[in-house]
Amino acid sequence: MAVSAVAVTAGLAGPGEAAASVRKPHVDPQLRAMLREIDPERIEAIIRRLVAFGTRHTLSAQDDPVRGIGAARDWIASEFERYAAESGGRMTVALDSFIQPVSSRIPVPTRITNVVATLRGSVTPERVYVVTGHYDSRVTDVLDATSDAPGADDDASGVAVVLELARVMATRSPEATIVFAAVAAEEQGLYGSDHLAQTFKDQGVQVYGMFSNDIVGTGDAHDGTANDPRTVRLFVEGVPTAETAAEANVRRSVGGENDGPSRQLGRFVHEVASTPETGMRVRQIWRRDRYLRGSDHISFLLRGYPAARFTEPRENFAHEHQDVRVVDGVQYGDLIEFCDFGYIARVARVNAAALWSLAQAPGTPRGVVIDTTQLTNETTLRWQPNPEPDLTGYELLWRETTAPDWTHTLDVGSVTTATVDLSKDNVFFGVRAVDRDGNRSPVAAPQPSS
Ligand SMILES: [Zn+2]
Repeated sequence: MAVSAVAVTAGLAGPGEAAASVRKPHVDPQLRAMLREIDPERIEAIIRRLVAFGTRHTLSAQDDPVRGIGAARDWIASEFERYAAESGGRMTVALDSFIQPVSSRIPVPTRITNVVATLRGSVTPERVYVVTGHYDSRVTDVLDATSDAPGADDDASGVAVVLELARVMATRSPEATIVFAAVAAEEQGLYGSDHLAQTFKDQGVQVYGMFSNDIVGTGDAHDGTANDPRTVRLFVEGVPTAETAAEANVRRSVGGENDGPSRQLGRFVHEVASTPETGMRVRQIWRRDRYLRGSDHISFLLRGYPAARFTEPRENFAHEHQDVRVVDGVQYGDLIEFCDFGYIARVARVNAAALWSLAQAPGTPRGVVIDTTQLTNETTLRWQPNPEPDLTGYELLWRETTAPDWTHTLDVGSVTTATVDLSKDNVFFGVRAVDRDGNRSPVAAPQPSS
C-alpha cells in the first residue's frame, strides 16, 4: 500500500461525518447461521458430561477413565477432534501440557494440560483471537481433590461455550485464526492459561483479542432477586496491566486511562454483540475483574494482549467454590440444577458475534501515533498499513475527553496518515481499519510520536 498524506478539515459537529456506531446494516449471513446453530441442548449435554466426572480438581486422578480431571481432559479432546474432523483440515487439536512444580496451591509437582483447538485463518492466519473456559473445579478447601466438585457454572458453563463455538465454527473459514481453549488449574492460580499465554508470547503469536468465559451459567442468582436472563457482564480493564513505566508517564501527562487496548475491545464487543440476533445486552464493567477475584484473561493481560472476561450478571456465592451440602435448608454447591442452558447458549452467541466479527474485520491498526513534534492546533495521525487484501481504508474517530464512547468518525480513505483541524489537546482520537464489506476493526488509540 502506498503511503500518502491527506488533509481533512472537520469540526467537532461539522458536516460530512458519520455517527461512530454506523456499520453495515445486515448481520453477516454466515454469522446469522452460526447463531441459529448454537444449541442449548448440546450445551446441557456438555455440562452434564463434565459434571459426571465427579470432580475435575487439578490434583484429582489423571489416569482414571471415569472420575477426575484426566477423564475430563480426554473427553474434551475427543469432542474437539470430532469437530475438527468436519473442518476440512482447518481445525487442529493439541494438548498444551506441562509439569507445574510445587507452588502456591500445588503441593506436589502436577501435570497440567490445556486442551486447545485451533481454527486456522484463511486470509491472515498470523492474526489470532482466543476464547477460553476453564475445565478444572473446586470445593471449599482449594486442596480437596476427592470430594464431589460439580463445577457446573464455574466453569463447565464456560467450557460448554467454548466447545459449542468450536463445533459451529469448525465448518466455516474465518479470515483470522481462532483458538478455542479449555484451560486447566484456574482455581489453583491461573496456571494453565499462564502457560498458554506465555507459550504464545515466546512463539511471537499475535493475539489481537482474548475472552475468558468464566461463570456464565445463568441470569438467575436464585437469591430472591429478579432474573436477568438477557445480560452478560464483560469485565474490561482501562489502564493496561502490562503498562510500562514510560507509558505510565505519558498517561499521567495527557490521559488515556479509558483507551487501553482492552477497553477498545470491550467497546467493539458491545457494538457487535448487543444485538437482536444474540438477544443479549453486553454490560461492560470497566474494571479488570470483580473484587477479590480473577480469571484467565489476566494471564493474557500480563503479556500485553488485549483481553476481557465474560461472567453472569449476578453471582450466588453459595454456589461457587463450596462443598455440596444443605445447611439450614440452604443448598450449597455448584450444581447443574442452577444452570440455565438457554442463557448459556445466548452467551455463546455473544462470543460468536464477537469472535466472528473480529476475525472477518481487519485487524486493529498497529503503530498508531499522534504527531507531537511541534505545537499546533491541528492533529496529524500516522499508522502502519494493515495487511488484509480486502482493506479499503481507515476511519478516524474522536470524542470529547469526557465522553465514554466514540461519537464521531471520518472516512480518510486508503492512507496511513491524516490531518484534521481539531486540537489533539481537546478530544481523544482513534483509528480503525475498514474492509470492502464494511467490516470495521476495533479502534486503536494513538501514542505520542515523540
Ligand atoms: Zn472460574
